[in-house]
Formats: sequence, C-alpha cells, structure tokens
Amino acid sequence: MAEPLQTNPLSSTPPAPASTGFVEKTPLERYVPPAKPSLVGLSRAQLTEALAAIGVPAAQRKMRAQQIWHWLYVRGARRFDEMTSVSKELRALLEQHFTLARPEVVAEQISVDGTRKWLLRLPGEQSSEVSGERPHEVECVYIPDTDRGTLCVSSQVGCTLTCSFCHTGTQRLVRNLTPGEIVGQIMVARDRLGDWLGAARASGDGLPTQGERLVSNIVMMGMGEPLYNFEAVRDALLIAADGEGIAISKRRITLSTSGVVPNISRAGAEIGCMLAVSLHAVRDELRNELVPLNRKYPIAQLLDACRSYPGVSNARRITFEYVMLKGVNDSLADAKALVKLLAGIPAKINLIPFNPWPGTRYECSDWERIEKFSEIIFNAGYASPVRTPRGRDILAACGQLKSATEKLSARERLALRAMAMTD
Ligand code: SAH
Ligand code: SF4
Repeated sequence: MAEPLQTNPLSSTPPAPASTGFVEKTPLERYVPPAKPSLVGLSRAQLTEALAAIGVPAAQRKMRAQQIWHWLYVRGARRFDEMTSVSKELRALLEQHFTLARPEVVAEQISVDGTRKWLLRLPGEQSSEVSGERPHEVECVYIPDTDRGTLCVSSQVGCTLTCSFCHTGTQRLVRNLTPGEIVGQIMVARDRLGDWLGAARASGDGLPTQGERLVSNIVMMGMGEPLYNFEAVRDALLIAADGEGIAISKRRITLSTSGVVPNISRAGAEIGCMLAVSLHAVRDELRNELVPLNRKYPIAQLLDACRSYPGVSNARRITFEYVMLKGVNDSLADAKALVKLLAGIPAKINLIPFNPWPGTRYECSDWERIEKFSEIIFNAGYASPVRTPRGRDILAACGQLKSATEKLSARERLALRAMAMTD
C-alpha cells in the first residue's frame, strides 16, 4: 500500500515524491515552517509584547523584559540557558519560541592596521526563498584607535542613490535592513571582540588600550542611506543608546546622510544623535553630478536643515564630509567657498581622501593639494582633520563597501523565478 501523503505542515519530512509524471505540490505541501524570530532588535515594548504572546503573566512581564534586556545587551548572551537569573521554565519557553540569533558572519578580515571587516549574510526577501536568489550581504567595519573603537554600521543592502564616486551606489540589489539586522551588527562586532561584560577580550594589534569598551562609537557610514530607512535606523540606534543595555551615548553615535532633507529634523527630534552630512561640493551644478539627490534637495535647503538641526551648538557640531576628488572639487577656490558657505553653522569639516575602486573615473587629490585645502579651512577656524584611510588592504575604507550579492541581473532573477514556479 502506498504511504499516505504527508500533509502535516509542521513536519520537517518533505512529502513523498509522486512516482510517475509531474505533480504540482499543494500549498500545504510547500509550506515551510517559519523560522523562530530573534529577540535581537526588539524595542522594550515589543519584547514585553513577545513575552505576553507566550503567556508570561502581566505582573511579571516588565521585570522579565528588563532581565532579558540585560542578558542580551550587557552580557551578550547567545543562548537562553546563560540567562541564569531567569527561571528555568521561562528559559525553556523562550527557547521554544525565539532565538538570540544575530546576522551570520560569513567572512572576517583583519587589516595590518587592526581594522576588522565582517561580511554578514542576511535572509533574502521572502520571494527570494522561492526564486533561489542568494541571501543578501552587508559589511560592517571596526576601526580601532588608542582611545576608542568605532564601528561603521550599514543601514541597507546596497543603496538606491547613485553618488558617482561611491562603490555602494553601483550595487543593484537593495533592501532595507531591519532594526534587528542593524543592532545585530553591533552584537556581532562585540561577540568577535569579546566586548561584553565578563567576556574574554580579543587581543591583537591596534586594539584600543584606553577606555572600558572596545566598541565605544558608532557611525552610520556603512552601506546605504540611513535616512531612507528611517524607522529601522531610529529604532536600532535607540536600542544602542539605551543606558541599561549597549549604552553608547548619543554623542558617540553619528548618522551620515547624503542630504535627505525632510528626515534631518526627524533624526534630531527622534534619535538625537550627532549628524554628518556628505557635502562634497560647494556648487549645486557639481553636487548634482556627485550626489544626484542634490537635484531634489539642493545645497541651500540642506544647509537650512543643518542650521535648525535640534541640539546643534558649538559643543555639538555638525560634521561636513568632503571627499577629495582630483581636479573635480579640490581647487583652493573651492576651499574658500566651502568656508564661506558654512559660515554661521557650528561645523567640523572632514576631508576624506577618495578611495578608488575598480572602474571609477575619479582619482584622489594629490597629498599636497589636500594639505593646502585643509590649511585654508583650518585658518578659517575650523578643525579640518583629514580622515586617514583605514583598512585599505581589506577594502574596508569609506565608499568601498559593496557586497558580492549584486551578481544577478533583473533578467537572471526573473528567469530563476520562472524556473522556481515550474519546479
Ligand atoms: N549614505 C550615507 C552614509 C554612507 S557613506 C552618506 O552618503 O552619507 C559614508 C561616507 O563615505 C559618505 O560621506 C560618502 O560620501 C563617502 N564615500 C563614498 N564613497 C567614497 C569613496 N570612494 N571614497 C571616499 N569616501 C567615499
Ligand atoms: Fe548611497 Fe552614501 Fe554611497 Fe551616495 S555615498 S551612493 S548615499 S552610500
């Protein structure tokens, strides 16, 4: 007698194949049980709701959420059974319904200067499970210094904007990261560095020797435009800044934007972190070319938004990033115009030597020119640090982050999808 057709959607055993010919699977047979969700990246309110959903009595929820928050974000627990202050029964219940998963680390590179880069694999979009599209990847970079360790975090896979000097902007696949995937980058970095309370610290060249924390600062300067993924970035940064968890002060968190004007004031009001603006040109005509978003939000509008950024003051200056492109935006007249343009705004100017990537039409300005440019800015009263490129040997420097996931063209993806449908 033939085996009965297996229809239990929760069974991990696939239905028995039909013996002859092609029989399309029913939706029930195609059902794949959803993966357990991770608690990483839930807000406190969401965590409390999650506890309610699994039957934790109302009177206990707040306290339990508080305990789990501590284990997650102060101690970096990766398994529920590490949470010794939580009852055994609750740990078992949590285990049944949730995970503490972070993004999967698929590669780690360590530069001669101590910079570390992690390639993280994220699940693809839901439809990609069907189409066979690869999961998406993002990069996260750790830049150590003697007295600090800065983590450069991504907000999107790729970027919808197409700044002409930026490698990420040439990537085809784009999707927003979830708050869990953004916080997950901080978790992964702290896991790899042993930067949790009670953990064994990583050792190696270039790691900070002063200060309690290996990850002391966060910059949203990885892949993507953070203000085009506003809610997720906000929720993630509020978790990072939470004083009873990761506890990185908002003054040590910097969000860099190419100039999404309507969301700049929102960032000030709803996140309250430091702001960096990718200016790169002093004239609209040139900025339109370098940062095409300028056509929508030109320089004057952008600077107005900066002037009224909540909390901006001499103690909380806005950083203006300026990439040094040979023969394009690096004349001494440009430097003078830059100083004039920013007059009245509490500002720092960060000159970034252009990091070339294969196929780019730009070159980095000569060192001598960068020095002269910086001198004009300095003499006008601005700090003008030139950002030393870090991790060049592992392609970790600004604007070089571009995952290998782009590979499939739209046509290839459609073809794969069509194949999956007849599967
Ligand atoms: N999308 C955001 C944040 C990520 S990029 C933004 O554009 O601000 C972080 C910084 O690196 C930005 O100032 C960006 O303009 C700069 N950048 C991009 N490509 C670069 C490259 N090839 N060389 C140097 N800086 C680059
Ligand atoms: Fe996107 Fe920023 Fe690169 Fe422009 S510079 S393409 S906004 S990541």
